[in-house]
Amino acid sequence: MKLIIRHYSLQLRHTFTISRGTYTSIPVVFVEVHHEGIVGIGEASPSSRYGETVETVEAFLRKVDLEPFENPFIIDTVLEYVRDIAPGNTAAKAAVDIAVHDWIGKKLGIPLYRFLGLEGRKTPYSSYTIGIDTPARMVEKVNEAAEYPILKIKLGLDNDREIMTAIRDVTRKTLRVDANEGWKTREIALERIQWLAELGCEFVEQPMPASQIDDITWLHERSPLPLIADESVVRLEDIPNLARAYDGINIKLMKCTGIREALKMINAARASRLKVMMGCMVESSVGISAAAQLSPLIDFADLDGAALISNDPYEGAYIEKGRLRLPDRPGIGVKER
Ligand code: MG
Repeated sequence: MKLIIRHYSLQLRHTFTISRGTYTSIPVVFVEVHHEGIVGIGEASPSSRYGETVETVEAFLRKVDLEPFENPFIIDTVLEYVRDIAPGNTAAKAAVDIAVHDWIGKKLGIPLYRFLGLEGRKTPYSSYTIGIDTPARMVEKVNEAAEYPILKIKLGLDNDREIMTAIRDVTRKTLRVDANEGWKTREIALERIQWLAELGCEFVEQPMPASQIDDITWLHERSPLPLIADESVVRLEDIPNLARAYDGINIKLMKCTGIREALKMINAARASRLKVMMGCMVESSVGISAAAQLSPLIDFADLDGAALISNDPYEGAYIEKGRLRLPDRPGIGVKER
């Protein structure tokens, strides 16, 4: 097997702000696995929150030598080799994981969801993310998102109340809230969540910093809305400790090293009676289509990463009137535009 890497810059349709920062473009790295004339494709969308940049992704991938592997079907062996090159580097590892899975599906001539024994038509609806902006601009974005029945509103700054009041005034849609660790005390978090419950929100994602797990546990005992872990859950090993503090977890391929571990995390979450959400970074259709292959297994999808960009070089899984749809193409189901 041979690995090829390519840099690309995803342009955002709107300047995107969350409680941590503001972005207009997102650099990513595409990975191709070549073997027996078949090309599997993967993507790394690194997040500084988890210590990665495109430079660290490239540096890691330069160390990956797949030449000794003659058989991509031995996925665990290949991925254990990649895992042991260095700790961390989860998005870089996810890119290789996705590319190998894509290769296998293409070799067999079937979509990955079928290889995994899943029903491709059992896909959930996906939320559409409204990034932080002035309340007036956020209302505009809500109106532009007319085709999406579920919206995820980014909060976590000082004007949460102003934003949510403006949005609730213009829509009765299902609203989910993501504070991205923005509420710093448990009292503030509880007060906001009680108020969000009155507005009829569905759940709250990552209300407080991941490091404050005891505060989140306190909050969980009192919260009228379900709490979903995002920054608190990175890998499989994080799950057992989270059941006391959360009602569900948000799995992202870029955090957890890819499809192989995401499957294990879904099973672990079920064993802990946690709901399962799959989310994404800002990603092209490569990363999104890979995650979407697992979506028949999950409760909530937040796989709008490719819908937020204007120069997606691929097409694959897509969102139709809010519902996630899987193409019938082999592997992760993407083709170049
Ligand atoms: Mg989140």
